Amino acid sequence: MRSKAGMMMILALLAINSSAQEPSSPLVLEHANVFRGSKSPSLHDMTIVVSAGRIERVQTSARKTRYPQLARRIDLHGAWLLPGLIDAHVHVADIAGVHRMLALGITTGRSMLTTGYEDVGLKALYDRGDKDVPDILAAGFPVVARPMQIKPDLSSLFLDNPDLDDIRFRDRIGIDGAQRIVLDNAKRHVDWIKVFANGRAGVLSAEPTERDLNDSELVAAVLQAQALAIPVAAHAYSDEGVSAAVRAGVRTIEHGSLITEPTIKLMKAQGVCFVPTLSAFYAMPPATASPTPDENALAARDKMMIQHSHEAIAIAYRLGLNIVAGTDSSYDADEPTVIDEIKHLADSGLSPAEAIESATAVSSSCLRIDKLKGAIRAGLDADMVVYAKDPTIDLHILEKPLLVITRGNIYADNQGATP
Ligand SMILES: [Zn+2]
Repeated sequence: MRSKAGMMMILALLAINSSAQEPSSPLVLEHANVFRGSKSPSLHDMTIVVSAGRIERVQTSARKTRYPQLARRIDLHGAWLLPGLIDAHVHVADIAGVHRMLALGITTGRSMLTTGYEDVGLKALYDRGDKDVPDILAAGFPVVARPMQIKPDLSSLFLDNPDLDDIRFRDRIGIDGAQRIVLDNAKRHVDWIKVFANGRAGVLSAEPTERDLNDSELVAAVLQAQALAIPVAAHAYSDEGVSAAVRAGVRTIEHGSLITEPTIKLMKAQGVCFVPTLSAFYAMPPATASPTPDENALAARDKMMIQHSHEAIAIAYRLGLNIVAGTDSSYDADEPTVIDEIKHLADSGLSPAEAIESATAVSSSCLRIDKLKGAIRAGLDADMVVYAKDPTIDLHILEKPLLVITRGNIYADNQGATP
């Protein structure tokens, strides 16, 4: 009995596996309202033609044209079509996590550290055509001053990279260590390099205002990445850490909670994007009845980070800096989602349309994937989410997508579900 069940399981898995890589059949979405960001008016009663995973045409539904043969036609009856959401800062490391992302209409995530090379693995599944995985931009092994002292434990990255093992025994990685970590990441075809300019905030063993990489390590990592045409993201909190990272040439600042106007002006002048990850601070567990001194210290740090982040976002918004939605989430069931981040950004002063843009067009441009993602436009990947109503009226609408489409495949269809 067991072997028969086992055989059925293998056959089922083979069926899933082969269907996972079949090209999507053409799709025609009719009578949709199309969201186009904060600066362009929405389009009404539109038809979107999708073939081979790309958006082929966006035209008014009144225009009569031939559709591709065998196309599946779906009448959206005036529902709202948005580009698939992008989370610019995730730590997703398992299949359950990526399924939760897709179910919520999050079709792209930029990984900002996994403790193995799970992000590189997820990217490989997407690249081979698996339909149940979002597009993951991988960052691989982070460039951090003391890889054996940081939490979470990064030791498995050394096991995956025996040629870097000597770095494990150093007091700090040094200039050549920073360069070698970047080179090994490049061999695994990462999309981004992550550097640590400051310590972590979420653990008491680290101090977010203290420098992590020093200037020479930071510059060495960024120059090595630039030589390989890989953009760099910096984990940084303080004015000193952020400005050192910006001067070294990073493209995005992760967290940046404590930055003040001069640093924000420097970011603006250098075209650096700001990923404030408010959800990470709001997601801290609530205080227990009798908190330990450590819990009290972390809660106080968290409260301070939230307050300063809102001030930094207000200045960044006034100066016209690109603000990007990122969560710091692993997408476990109780973790925040980019929809939470969009709401937090709206609470910080962005309009609802701007907050959604921070997870679509602004994000794709900051992550350098705007030729593929972030808009409903001919030529782009057919990553789209359908909602019953206009989410700029009420951002909670984002929590209940009617349809999630990734590269032209319908991943989730909730059209029949009772509201
Ligand atoms: Zn993070």
